[in-house]
Amino acid sequence: MKIALLALLFAAQADTAYFQQDIAYRIEATLDEGTDVLTARARLDYTNNSPDTLDSLYFHLELNAFRPNSAWARRELEYGERRFQDLGPDDHAFERITAIRVGDTPVRPEYRGAPDSTVVAIALPQPLPPGARTTVMIDWQTRLATEPRRQGRRGRHHDFAQWYPRIAVYDHTGWATRPLLPQGEFYGEYGTFDVTLDVAADQVIGATGVPVEGDPGWAAARAGGPEPWLKRDAYDAPAPQPLGLLDDAPAEGRKRVRWYAEDVHHFAWTANPDYIYEGGRIGDVAVHVLYQPGDTAWDDGVAVEHTKNAIAFFSDLFGPYPWPQITNVHRIEPGGTEFPMMIMDGSASEGLIVHEIAHQWVHGIFGNNEWREGWLDEGFGSFLTNWYFEAKGAPPSMWDSSLEGIRRMERAGQSQPIALESAEFRDPRTYSAMTYTKPSLVFRMLRDYLGEDTFRRALKVFYERKALQHVTEQDLRAAFETAAGEDLDWFFDQWIHTTATLDYRIESARARQEGSEWVATIEVAREGDAWMPVTLQVDGSARRLDSREPRQVVTLRLTERPTQAVLDPDNILLDIQIDNNRAAFEVTGSR
Ligand SMILES: [Zn+2]
Repeated sequence: MKIALLALLFAAQADTAYFQQDIAYRIEATLDEGTDVLTARARLDYTNNSPDTLDSLYFHLELNAFRPNSAWARRELEYGERRFQDLGPDDHAFERITAIRVGDTPVRPEYRGAPDSTVVAIALPQPLPPGARTTVMIDWQTRLATEPRRQGRRGRHHDFAQWYPRIAVYDHTGWATRPLLPQGEFYGEYGTFDVTLDVAADQVIGATGVPVEGDPGWAAARAGGPEPWLKRDAYDAPAPQPLGLLDDAPAEGRKRVRWYAEDVHHFAWTANPDYIYEGGRIGDVAVHVLYQPGDTAWDDGVAVEHTKNAIAFFSDLFGPYPWPQITNVHRIEPGGTEFPMMIMDGSASEGLIVHEIAHQWVHGIFGNNEWREGWLDEGFGSFLTNWYFEAKGAPPSMWDSSLEGIRRMERAGQSQPIALESAEFRDPRTYSAMTYTKPSLVFRMLRDYLGEDTFRRALKVFYERKALQHVTEQDLRAAFETAAGEDLDWFFDQWIHTTATLDYRIESARARQEGSEWVATIEVAREGDAWMPVTLQVDGSARRLDSREPRQVVTLRLTERPTQAVLDPDNILLDIQIDNNRAAFEVTGSR
């Protein structure tokens, strides 16, 4: 009886205990620029660290999103866009498995979400029990789309994002196998990547990882500044173990570069013979920047400096950048996308570079599930980007347009809970407002409520506990609660999970003289369902009200006649009506 009970307790514990699958990829790939087709072979060693026996494995074939009839293309039709639905046979992307086996057993890829083929399942020949390892060999061919979306090709420039059969995450909720959709990006399993790329000899390559063998082309493309710091020995990379796709030596006019990376959940790369290289270093981290001819906003070390400054700022905030290098490239598409050790940017704007570098932490180091909890990724990242600019001296008014935009949506009843899954938001505009903008303001409210020191301590706690792991809202809440020493459910529940609105109002502000003193009486009313401690400022002095009650009366004894009462004087709260936040005192006559 006792033993059975213990076993039950352990079972219950095992269900909730954190686990992370272990993956190791070896990949060989060769790019034919005549057809733009990449032919590749991967060996994936997969260790099941979960408490469950697995009977299938799932992979993302994300490039299949960028073609007609994908779930992505069909979702875009709902928003009146036809970018991928109308792409012709020479222009759309594809990612096609040509052979797959588990151990020595050939298996059949199953496209259970057809016609979408961004997720493929394979049934395992034998179930994979907890603690067991299996090996999957995959041959595939892939091509990027001429219409860029994170990935893309233009002439000889190829941006290889999400280009290999990417093992889906298996976590405490099971397999994360959503098809790739316009709203919400990545979720990845951490592991090791050993990738050999065979390309034309004049290509200049940037990638996740360090080039352990071969010439990425940086020295020849260097515009000035220091010599490229390749850091070939950053890892104790094993001797190469060929997979048999590539010949012993590259063909004439070709070259091979072997890349190696550990503790990353995605491997991206880019190749362009026209890239210009500039490098630098920040502490032990090599910085590589690859830009295009005529990029006057990138050159003379400008992009290198922005990259270094952002790495320094976020290392200080959370904890050190954990990888040996960071590569920042000028990609084909505008905007930016983050990958571990690599950011692909459409411009050298400081705001864009800082935002994508922020994602090295809130995405790369803290591996959130961006389509399930996008705010943990983009909202956090947007907040951190603004914090960087605050630290550089930007005025608080930098938040005003975000505040006004969200207040307007809330007054119109158009907000949706921040915690919704990305694909559930009613349209791209609402997704963007609720995933980037509103949560950045919510983080700002939390920082103001806790104080900056406590908030910073929470980020360190989060890093110490969760660096290079998958994270959820619960992990972040726990870090803040540890640092603050108080329960914060009231905060997260309201602001992340509801659309409750907040409106404090000064109902009345009266003052009367009593001898040499003034007695000030302020009535504060709360409308709406949300509440937050709010600062009440009377002339030069401020105090924080608990503000839970719908009506509060505050009495102050003052030496001078008060003139004005103001709620939330620093304009931090998501208070949807701020014109009722201040009032001049009415003098009611002495007694
Ligand atoms: Zn972002």
